[in-house]
Amino acid sequence: MGLTIALAGNPNSGKSTLFNLLTGANQYVGNWPGVTVEKKEGKLKSDKSVNITDLPGIYSLSPYSLEEVISRNYLLQEKPDAVINIIDATNLERNLFLTTQLIELGIPVVVALNMIDVVKKNGDIINVPYLSGKLGCPVYEISAAKNTGVDELVKAAVAAAGNKDAKKADPLHIFTGVAEHAVAHIEESLGDKIPENEKRFYAVKLFERDSKIKNSISLDAGTLAHIEEHIVEAEKELDDDSESIVTNERYIYITDLIKGCYKKKNKVLVSSSDKIDKIVTNRFLALPIFALIMFVVYYISVTTVGTIVTDWTNDVLFGEWIIPAAAGFLEGIGCAAWLSGLIVDGIISGVGAVLGFVPQMLVLFIMLAFLEECGYMARIAFILDRIFRRFGLSGKSFIPMLIGTGCGIPGVMASRTIENERDRRMTIMTTTFMPCGAKLPIIALISGALLNGEWWVAPSAYFVGIAAIIVSGIMLKKTKMFAGDPSPFVMELPAYHLPTVGAVLRSMWERGWSFIKKAGTIILASTIVIWFTSSFSWSLQAVENYEGSILESIGSAISWIFLPLGFGNSKAAVATILGLVAKENVVGTFGILYGFAEVAEDGMEFWPRLQADYSALAGYSMLIFNLLCAPCFAAIGAIKREMNNAKWTWFAIGYQCLFAYCVSLMVYQFGCLFTGNANVLGVIVALVVFAAIVFQLVKPNRNEMKLSAA
Ligand code: GDP
Ligand code: MG
Repeated sequence: MGLTIALAGNPNSGKSTLFNLLTGANQYVGNWPGVTVEKKEGKLKSDKSVNITDLPGIYSLSPYSLEEVISRNYLLQEKPDAVINIIDATNLERNLFLTTQLIELGIPVVVALNMIDVVKKNGDIINVPYLSGKLGCPVYEISAAKNTGVDELVKAAVAAAGNKDAKKADPLHIFTGVAEHAVAHIEESLGDKIPENEKRFYAVKLFERDSKIKNSISLDAGTLAHIEEHIVEAEKELDDDSESIVTNERYIYITDLIKGCYKKKNKVLVSSSDKIDKIVTNRFLALPIFALIMFVVYYISVTTVGTIVTDWTNDVLFGEWIIPAAAGFLEGIGCAAWLSGLIVDGIISGVGAVLGFVPQMLVLFIMLAFLEECGYMARIAFILDRIFRRFGLSGKSFIPMLIGTGCGIPGVMASRTIENERDRRMTIMTTTFMPCGAKLPIIALISGALLNGEWWVAPSAYFVGIAAIIVSGIMLKKTKMFAGDPSPFVMELPAYHLPTVGAVLRSMWERGWSFIKKAGTIILASTIVIWFTSSFSWSLQAVENYEGSILESIGSAISWIFLPLGFGNSKAAVATILGLVAKENVVGTFGILYGFAEVAEDGMEFWPRLQADYSALAGYSMLIFNLLCAPCFAAIGAIKREMNNAKWTWFAIGYQCLFAYCVSLMVYQFGCLFTGNANVLGVIVALVVFAAIVFQLVKPNRNEMKLSAA
């Protein structure tokens, strides 16, 4: 059996960065807390016999959050051979709180003072030997991002792990007076139930009346009563509850430590992060700034850069290179007509139409990665929390939404940190309203082909997504199923910093690559099915132009559903349905059914074919529906896993589709009023829907009144 080393530390201290560096893995590094929900495992690059575990970020070893419970159980039950406690050295006071608990566990600890590059830049100095002596464990200065000092750290950690039998010395951190007296007595009363070197941790936790720990060891009633006596005695004498006593003890110790080891160069009263936050989270400016930034992000990635790369993909990449080459090659080898049909009209049309959007997506991903890394995204959750708390929505529900802008699956998974079950379910249901990367091609295609590349289209998709989450949140919160106070949201805002190019590119590449992989697998398979079902009839006769094909008959049978939304034709219906497999399929289906490969040689002729079938308004309505309706299979799978309940999963899917339908209906029917071909019945239905939503939004929250009355 090899050695196991666990990485433990506060959120945002750089654990994942270090983990990636040590194992060569590509863990998601994000400048906000709550990203690593589960522990991740890997092998040390330089010595494959050493296992490395990245634990979720935690502030302490109390049992108050899911992350804390996961980390604590891992440390207590799996007993890694050593712990690397990674510390954000720019924030010693807060980080050392966890350290004081880790060193009580009886597992060798090696402390890594991370972000030392920042400390040095500030001109501050840390007295490492002093700190190491006081804590009783090795301490190393490192920068995970710049890869300095990491080799020495690893060597020390491996050495410590291999030498864990070395008896742990008596605790270096002795509490004061009566508190220490009580803890010492509790330690004694544990007898041989707990190994000698772990007693300190258990004794302190028992002193804090941690019920999870109490239940994990079987103590007889006599011992328990005896322990309680000691606790009560200490509480009486110090006039405080036992948990606060311990917290207090730790902070006194930490303050003392820092006094001895930290030299600040100059006392900065207001850090530059605080200065930026003064503006960015300003009561009045916060929302406009947020809107402006996201507007620019989507405008650049879809509209400006979008047209350039789409032109190039259509005209040059496909028009001049791929299609003529493929057609020529297939003709040259005397390929059967059906096979070249499958390849050119099926695969190249479908996958090609999708892949054309990759450059655009990468541009979007670069900008999102930058915003996240530099620390801005974390502010958004904070800003939205401040505003929507009044409506019962918590900032915790907005973090999954921000993560979901890349891909809905990690977004849905991030909801796990929400302890309140009702809020968690609500967040799972609404997170996928955000335009994920795979919805970007739909937005770009419709905006370019049907809406004349108008500047507002792409950014509007983002804001419609957020509005859908907020409106749904407010409406759902007023139902019995989701009632209750918003989850508490405490988030420390990370300091702003300029992200490294590597981190941004890695994040972009990860998201982009998973998209390309999807194009080569599920999208490829889908295009083959689409091509086949659109080229043959039920009796397997080849058909021309889709007419009489299997897919057409299916599409026609269901297209009535979308008539009130303005896109009730067979092709749009099947594209929308196939979008449930993967959102890219919407564009892929259009590529095949409107002959992307056929017309690519003539440049933009693909677009006029779409324009012939859909008005701008119908296009926008289609965009909205595909944005808000149930997500792809993979994301539905994530919803199912997180709900862990079939009924709730179906409820989520049903709600998403119904909500999408209502919004698209309103967009189309009210839009028709302006274009002058309104349908009276349609407008009336849309008005009723509108009134129902407004009513649900403004009506007082009964559940809440009952709660406060009780
Ligand atoms: P985790 O939450 O502990 O897993 O932290 P991450 O590894 O996701 O890192 C949080 C942020 O700190 C990211 O933006 C990293 O790029 C940044 N970071 C990590 N290590 C260092 C470092 O040594 N120096 C600097 N300046 N930034 C770092
Ligand atoms: Mg992490």
